[in-house]
Amino acid sequence: MPTFKVAIVGAGPAGYFTAQALQNSQSDELTFQIDMIERLPTPWGLVRSGVAPDHPKIKTVAKVFEKIAKEPNFRLFANVEVGKDVSIKELREKYDAVVLSTGSTIGKKLGIKGEELTNSLSAAQFVPWYNAHPDYTGVEVDLSSDTAVVIGAGNVAMDVARMLALDPAELDPTDTATHALAELHKSKIRNVIICGRRGPEHASFTSPELRDLPKLEHTDVYIDLNEIEKAQVRVEATGEVEKELRNNLEAMRLIAENEKKGVARRLEIKFLTTPLEIKGSGKVEEIVFGINQVEADDKITSTGKTFSIKCGLVITAIGYEVGEFSGVPVENGRITNIGGKVEHNLYVVGWAKRGPNGVIGTNKSDASDVVDLLISELKEPKESNGISDLLKSGHEVIDQVGWEKINASEILSGEPHGKPRIKEVDWKLLISLGRA
Ligand code: NAP
Repeated sequence: MPTFKVAIVGAGPAGYFTAQALQNSQSDELTFQIDMIERLPTPWGLVRSGVAPDHPKIKTVAKVFEKIAKEPNFRLFANVEVGKDVSIKELREKYDAVVLSTGSTIGKKLGIKGEELTNSLSAAQFVPWYNAHPDYTGVEVDLSSDTAVVIGAGNVAMDVARMLALDPAELDPTDTATHALAELHKSKIRNVIICGRRGPEHASFTSPELRDLPKLEHTDVYIDLNEIEKAQVRVEATGEVEKELRNNLEAMRLIAENEKKGVARRLEIKFLTTPLEIKGSGKVEEIVFGINQVEADDKITSTGKTFSIKCGLVITAIGYEVGEFSGVPVENGRITNIGGKVEHNLYVVGWAKRGPNGVIGTNKSDASDVVDLLISELKEPKESNGISDLLKSGHEVIDQVGWEKINASEILSGEPHGKPRIKEVDWKLLISLGRA
């Protein structure tokens, strides 16, 4: 029975669903040895460092990941950096197939004047900061002003805005990074404004997330009802309206109509506003927007009018792209691929393949399609010990047992505080926890 060796680079959702698809494809004629390689000492990718801490239900998918990891044909090699500790070329020589599931980590830029000012941040910095990613503990986030502006009308913008607008006491029983929680408790921000460049009907928010907003106990959420009604008229005029869009607009209408509590913390969603310039002497003080309109053909045009918001913090959440990665070809912010194939025995899945879209579950069918292609291209299995042949002696790998020690230790630390875990942020300490 041939056993093929597959290396998966990146231990996020797309990587785990690739491992699962390989496991599910096994038969009497075909088996796999799966080695998952991860740069950080901890796996789970965006489930650990992306998903908002106040949405713990989304993180329960980690149970699926741990089930996949328990299969005898799965090995974790965390604290191994591809491009430094081993090269892609070496992996491709030792494995029958290499699957890149490295995501996209670079926040897209607005490209406007003032974007480089202090306290103009990207969600690609702010999100891993509040989620205890070891590389982002040093991000300087100044929460001393009363107003923050978040650019983008997607779920990341909403996560970011909620994290800023919540009463931080609501985050106490979560796994928010200890350093971020301390800053959020001192935060003076009471007014958070999300600005989308197109209309409500073009927003990328999903309705479960919108429907959660009026449930915030200590924050009033505002949307201009008039804007939603105009959008509803526009979409109805087009004829058939997709269910998802109808649900989204209905969820926005509910927010607009929801009785306000009269509390000091407010979160507002504004549409048809394009950021033109961030102003300030050294540090963000104001952001200028152009006002847009929706034309009859659904085109967005500028009205020529502008307005500005005085604020001390601007966070852009306008999408992500892959960074330079070991000479792998990149195009339009993604690894160049056709249906997940990059080159001979090199594949890509997840955001690195298709761009930063879809929810965690989207990666399941996506990975399964790529695994089908990978299997169809397998020839004779290679004779090798895989990555064990490549790592320098003494290289400290965090394997599944090591990760389980880290996991158990974090969960134990959280217990007395009523938290699901307290995440360790120090790389060296993480490694020593994995060794203990
Ligand atoms: P997204 O859904 O693609 O939203 C990006 C937003 O940025 C869009 O509103 C886009 O507007 C706007 N934008 C892009 N370029 C811009 C520019 N130059 N100026 C102003 N606005 C600009 O991306 P995301 O929010 O980063 O989310 C990524 C994926 O993760 C999505 O599929 C999302 O649903 C998912 N996610 C899910 C959850 C959850 O399920 N709870 C949480 C977080 C993220 P245009 O449409 O006009 O381009």
